[in-house]
Amino acid sequence: MKLYAPAYYKDFSCIADRCRHSCCIGWEIDVDEDTCDFYQSLQGDYAEAIRQSIDAADTPHFILAAHDRCPHLDERGLCRIIKAYGPDALCEICREHPRIYHDTPHGKEVGLGLSCEEACRIVLGSDDFAKMIEIEQLDGEPDSDAYDATAPRAQIYALLAGASLSYSEKLRRICDAFDVSPACITDEEWRALLDGLEYLDDAHRALFSRYSSACEAQGESAPILTRALAYFIFRHCSDAEDADAFRASLGLSLFFTQLLCCMIRAGSDPHNAARILSEELEYSEDNTDTIRSVFFEVLP
Ligand code: SF4
Repeated sequence: MKLYAPAYYKDFSCIADRCRHSCCIGWEIDVDEDTCDFYQSLQGDYAEAIRQSIDAADTPHFILAAHDRCPHLDERGLCRIIKAYGPDALCEICREHPRIYHDTPHGKEVGLGLSCEEACRIVLGSDDFAKMIEIEQLDGEPDSDAYDATAPRAQIYALLAGASLSYSEKLRRICDAFDVSPACITDEEWRALLDGLEYLDDAHRALFSRYSSACEAQGESAPILTRALAYFIFRHCSDAEDADAFRASLGLSLFFTQLLCCMIRAGSDPHNAARILSEELEYSEDNTDTIRSVFFEVLP
């Protein structure tokens, strides 16, 4: 089967030591079995240091160093494992981050997750979100009988890419066409729900407390929010198992976009706000499930 990606995908490469919010800080990194076996096969002092840096209990993972840094991140922000053995020596999570994958009846798709600041720069700066390009040929066949979420996605992308309608009118038409909206519960209920979620950094809870359905995109933020919505739909709707699941995930995507709008209106830098929203909400399955369940409960 084929692997497809949004056209902007090819512009990504990790900016390493120029990254201000490195994914090698603050996250516990699991080491997959094949990579553990590979590290066992290596010889020498540094290979032994790599083995000693892995906690093998339950799911093997690197033991974080001071300030929650990956133990293999050097003082310049470069990866010592890459420097010693090349990028193929990385564990799967490090090799793949920030790539995200899902299946469609036409093949597999890969995109870039917004928790990475360089991915934010590219995704929120690209208007070619609707253009999918073929990346490579993979083994296996797609499930051609599965629900095809790429059809309603293309319908929404065509609306978002059009130049004749305002941003707010585009949102209104999407909500009407799919009969789903973040207005299904009150702003107070959304704020209470957000307050009850789990956060990597508890200080971010206050950022999300600014949610309001009355917040409107202004000036430069409208195209950024349009691209953000296209991204959320790509990530959360593309592998929906049926029409109801697509609508619930569309509700989640519209809610994330409105929350981002509120954060920007409150003075946050758009790219930084998107990165924080992504790492706190999108990268937590529990948090996305909690928010998505609100839409499932009210689907007509
Ligand atoms: S967050 Fe992105 S740019 Fe920064 S180190 Fe990780 S992959 Fe590279």
